[in-house]
Amino acid sequence: MTNPVYQTVIVGGGFTGLFTALYLSHEHYARSVILIERESRFSFKPLLYEYCTGEMDAEEVWSPYEELLKGSGVIFVQDAVDAIDLPKREVRVTSGTSYNYSNLVLALGSVTGYSGVEGAKEYALPLRTGEDALAIDKKLHQCLQQASKTQDPEQRRRLLTVAVIGGGPSGIEMACTLANLLPNWYSALGGNLQEIRVLLLNHGKELLKGDVNTHLRPVALEALQKRGVELILGAAATAVRPDSVEYTRDGKSETLSASTVIWTAGTAANPLIKDLPIPQEHRDKHGRLQVTPTLQLLDFPEVFAAGDCAFTKENPQPPLAQVAYQQAAAIAFNLRALALGHDLKPAHVHLRGTLMKLGIEESVASIFDRYEIKGEIGHLIRQGTYLEMLPTPIHDFNVTKEWLNDEIIHRYINSDDGTKTAVRAIEVVGGVVVTALVARKLLQMVSNDDKSHKS
Ligand SMILES: Cc1cc2nc3c(=O)[nH]c(=O)nc-3n(C[C@H](O)[C@H](O)[C@H](O)COP(=O)(O)OP(=O)(O)OC[C@H]3O[C@@H](n4cnc5c(N)ncnc54)[C@H](O)[C@@H]3O)c2cc1C
Repeated sequence: MTNPVYQTVIVGGGFTGLFTALYLSHEHYARSVILIERESRFSFKPLLYEYCTGEMDAEEVWSPYEELLKGSGVIFVQDAVDAIDLPKREVRVTSGTSYNYSNLVLALGSVTGYSGVEGAKEYALPLRTGEDALAIDKKLHQCLQQASKTQDPEQRRRLLTVAVIGGGPSGIEMACTLANLLPNWYSALGGNLQEIRVLLLNHGKELLKGDVNTHLRPVALEALQKRGVELILGAAATAVRPDSVEYTRDGKSETLSASTVIWTAGTAANPLIKDLPIPQEHRDKHGRLQVTPTLQLLDFPEVFAAGDCAFTKENPQPPLAQVAYQQAAAIAFNLRALALGHDLKPAHVHLRGTLMKLGIEESVASIFDRYEIKGEIGHLIRQGTYLEMLPTPIHDFNVTKEWLNDEIIHRYINSDDGTKTAVRAIEVVGGVVVTALVARKLLQMVSNDDKSHKS
């Protein structure tokens, strides 16, 4: 069906959707662009732990779309998409409105998968949005407060036990961060920090199995052990109750009393993606949609899809923000090419390496899988890499500037052996990240200098 409406609709405003919209705006795309997203704020998922711990603010990792898209010309519709009719080229939202499109971008990501575990959806806390981070923060504070007041040792033990389900990168990052954080919070309430328990339950006997970060397993194990995180491996969660989690291990059923259960154990296809009339042979085993190297659906070439809801057979990529972010640029390029009657180009995704948070101000960065950098320098590289990706130049600039002042300049360059540390970091990572950040700091200083001369 040909459609007279020359408008591009993007569904989902995560890494793929938001960045496609921003790239289109930067490239002065001539057609109107509508971004439909159910949330009012963009959650920068890799830095949500920092938001939980108070290391970063909401304005940095959970910004309102209205602010991020200000001046971009993109029409933002905050609503949930109910149905997508590919043959009719129509998207319907909960409020009842329908949007026709000439091009559609499917950027709906994935959803938390609970694998049918009883009570998991009701009682375990997921971490996908800024709101989830706030809910975790609130729950943990409530538990610690109650624990500091109760005289009942059993109740106190339960309140002070946190079970993280899932030994992938998110579970490890969460467990390490909480193991650092909770003792600080609890001792501020006058509690005995030795009573805090953080446990990591994993279905398999090995952490990070089948993940792009598998090679970081020894570093992750060391970080978990150093922080006293208790590992329960080979344990399949069977039920989550308001104050406990049940699991089977070696054929035996066991129950762990824990007032806080955090669920990082799985993802599932977005129901809207599942419902599309795309045959099984054009999907993978997770239900993701197969796209061409130019990121178009095989059966509907006017529709682009990328990020966690799509895959290419030619160059399959892991479900990562850095992948979605680069694919967004490719989709924007191809949409513009289509509008101008130019040739489309295949998306080229280059993984920059893998990065994992291993507690407060500690991370491991595996740069191009050649250099493994741990500790605080790893933390700087991880934050630097993600700050480079924060949306909109103004926002990015402000946050990077603040972080550079705090971290690079005050802690490293001004410290006694700071110059040595910074130089070592530059050597180790081939200069890429740290040099870029220091260069930006210099630019900022020059620009401030310029302004003070003018005023
Ligand atoms: C806790 C956590 C930590 C992570 N850490 C890292 C990391 O360190 N490094 C890394 O590279 N990747 C990381 N990831 C993975 C990364 O965030 C994803 O790969 C990336 O977000 C995928 O982008 P996307 O655009 O496909 O989906 P998303 O970013 O998930 O965006 C999908 C959007 O669609 C919206 N949506 C869904 N359904 C509807 C609907 N019906 N109507 C309207 N809107 C809808 C959602 O609200 C969401 O905004 C992490 C993920 C999580 C959950």
